[in-house]
Amino acid sequence: MTGVTVVDHPLVARHLSVLRDKATPSSDFRRRLSDISMLLLFEALRDLRVREDAIETPLETTGGMRLADEIVVIAILRAGLGMTDGALRLIPEARVGHLGLYRDEESLQPVGYYESIPRHAADAEVVVVDPMLATGGSAVSALDRLKRDVAGRLRFVCLVAAPEGLAAVREHHPDVPVFCAAIDRELDERGYIRPGLGDAGDRIFGTE
Ligand code: URA
Repeated sequence: MTGVTVVDHPLVARHLSVLRDKATPSSDFRRRLSDISMLLLFEALRDLRVREDAIETPLETTGGMRLADEIVVIAILRAGLGMTDGALRLIPEARVGHLGLYRDEESLQPVGYYESIPRHAADAEVVVVDPMLATGGSAVSALDRLKRDVAGRLRFVCLVAAPEGLAAVREHHPDVPVFCAAIDRELDERGYIRPGLGDAGDRIFGTE
C-alpha cells in the first residue's frame, strides 16, 4: 500500500513476537514496546533533514551535523504513552505532546477530551504514535485535529495495523506516511486486531 512502510527487520519481528505473547508480563511488555518504538522511529525518521556543523574533537576540527528541524512526538492516550520513552531515548531533544480521545457511545465518533501540544516551528517534524491502528478512528481524528491548527510535517507510527485502520488513514490523510511493524489479518467484532496482542493499554499498565 503506498505511503505505508512495514519495518522489516529481524529485531523488530522478535520484539513483536514477545509483545504478542500473552505470557509476557507488563514490565517486559513496557520495555519491549520502548525498544521496538526506537526501531520503528529510527526507520520512520530516516529522511530527517540535517544541517552541517563544525565539531571540535580533542584533536582537531571536523565536519559534524545537527538535526535541521524540531521534532515533536504526539502520543495518543493512553497506549501511545508506551511509545514515548523509546522515542525520547532515540531523540532526546524531541518534545512530547498528548492527545486524549474517547469514543462517543451514540455517534461512535472519537471525541477529544485532553490535549497538550508543545509550541513548535512551522517546519517541525510531528510524529504521532499509537501502538494499535485498529478502526483508524482515533488516528484519523488525531490527524484531523493536528492539521486544523498545528503546523508541521506529519507522520504516523504504530506497532500493529489492521487493514481497516490503514485504509481509513490512507483515505482521509493520504499525505501522512504510516510506519508499522506488522499488518495483521483483521479486526474482530469487538474492534480487536487479530491476531494482535490484546489491549495494548491494559498490557502496558497492567489493567484489565
Ligand atoms: N486497541 C488495542 O489496544 N488493541 C486492539 O487490538 C485494538 C485496539
